Amino acid sequence: MKKPDIVILGAGYGGIMTAVKLQKKLNMNEATITLVNKYDYHYQTTWLHENAAGTLHHDRTRIPIKDVVDTDKVHFVMDTVVSIKPEKKKVKLENGELYYDILVIGLGFETATFGIPGLKENAFTIENINSARLIKDHLEYNFAMYQYEDEKNHGRLNIVVGGGGFTGVGYLGELANRIPALCEEYDINKSIVRIINIEGESTVLPGFDPQLTEYAMSSLESRGVEFITGAVLKECKPDRIIYEKDGREMEIPTYTTVWAAGVRANTIVEESGFEHNHGKIEVRHDLRAPDYDDVFAIGDCALIIDEKTDSPYPSTAQMAVQQSETVAHNIMSLVQETGELDEYKPHLLGTVTSLGNNDAIGDVLNNRKMFGMKAVIMKKIIDNRYLLKLGGVGLLMRKGKFNIFY
Ligand SMILES: Cc1cc2nc3c(=O)[nH]c(=O)nc-3n(C[C@H](O)[C@H](O)[C@H](O)COP(=O)(O)OP(=O)(O)OC[C@H]3O[C@@H](n4cnc5c(N)ncnc54)[C@H](O)[C@@H]3O)c2cc1C
Repeated sequence: MKKPDIVILGAGYGGIMTAVKLQKKLNMNEATITLVNKYDYHYQTTWLHENAAGTLHHDRTRIPIKDVVDTDKVHFVMDTVVSIKPEKKKVKLENGELYYDILVIGLGFETATFGIPGLKENAFTIENINSARLIKDHLEYNFAMYQYEDEKNHGRLNIVVGGGGFTGVGYLGELANRIPALCEEYDINKSIVRIINIEGESTVLPGFDPQLTEYAMSSLESRGVEFITGAVLKECKPDRIIYEKDGREMEIPTYTTVWAAGVRANTIVEESGFEHNHGKIEVRHDLRAPDYDDVFAIGDCALIIDEKTDSPYPSTAQMAVQQSETVAHNIMSLVQETGELDEYKPHLLGTVTSLGNNDAIGDVLNNRKMFGMKAVIMKKIIDNRYLLKLGGVGLLMRKGKFNIFY
């Protein structure tokens, strides 16, 4: 009998962990495993805001796929997925086509701009290594230009972050730490640089613990961040943004707007004709797509409803990594025809958000609140634990975060 072809799309948290687990669970004559990714590296999306601020070099964030995947067991294809044809069991790539018996969709997220004029064209987004590196270089360019131009253009020193969710707040923390160093490098007085957050709700981190939110805001404010809450971004132009607050439209001159206020699942899911809910596949308990017994969805492409609240679980790296265990186990069961598939049960350990390298907040393990150094250490433990799971002690030593006290 022909060996089944298992194809994994995307080497993000969900995809690469599924590949790493399958290479241990299955032997080479049981199945052919193919992993497809746009780049020849995996990147830790949860560190990208540090790369975008310039507080962490992007080489720390990316991990060559061949360093963690055994390429004798998993065939790696560096290519871009264009579409999936589930009826024909085929995946169209920019440079070819793949047939599958079992498919895992782990293509992650895209930024959602909600049709706000000019955002797509003029704002920056923290999506991958390339977009993060571009923001970092753009910040430096504008600081250099400010000093170079005879006529001083203060818009070059105004940095606007759209959205005060976890990504926006994390990025503000990194900026607050980075700006003093940039000012020193470019001989600019720190007091004329503005870091401005625009948030639609009355507070940042809406829905999160109020005490921790207050802590986060005052930590950031003490380092120069300005919050404009209850404000809606109306338009993003190359040299300014327009927002509305209390019924009035206002402008901020800026060349740097970083949009961190919305993500959606990769549009390939929706465009390939899968039944979807807000662009995500509402998976069954075993993480398979509702209409296809041979298609699994994972991470930001999968939607899972919390039965207690009847609303979707937020998409996180934590969930993607947990799901990879269920997906790998269930694929093994299908290949070895051993019977029942496992149900995925989310086991949420909480949320920890960094506010720069030396401050953080967290709500972990049944509402245990943390802030300051304790939360910083917890965040690094979480990051390091992932590296250990993915690539063992060697990877942890190469890429881990051990810098607690600066
Ligand atoms: C700045 C930031 C900070 C975050 N912080 C946290 C945090 O602290 N904790 C937390 O739990 N979550 C956090 N998240 C959310 C978390 O990163 C995502 O939920 C997680 O990355 C989802 O994992 P995934 O496997 O679904 O996709 P991803 O990790 O996004 O990976 C998708 C992969 O698919 C590849 N890909 C995409 N399109 C194609 C294509 N067309 N062809 C081929 N390959 C393709 C990409 O290159 C990538 O490798 C953060 C997100 C951001 C942006």
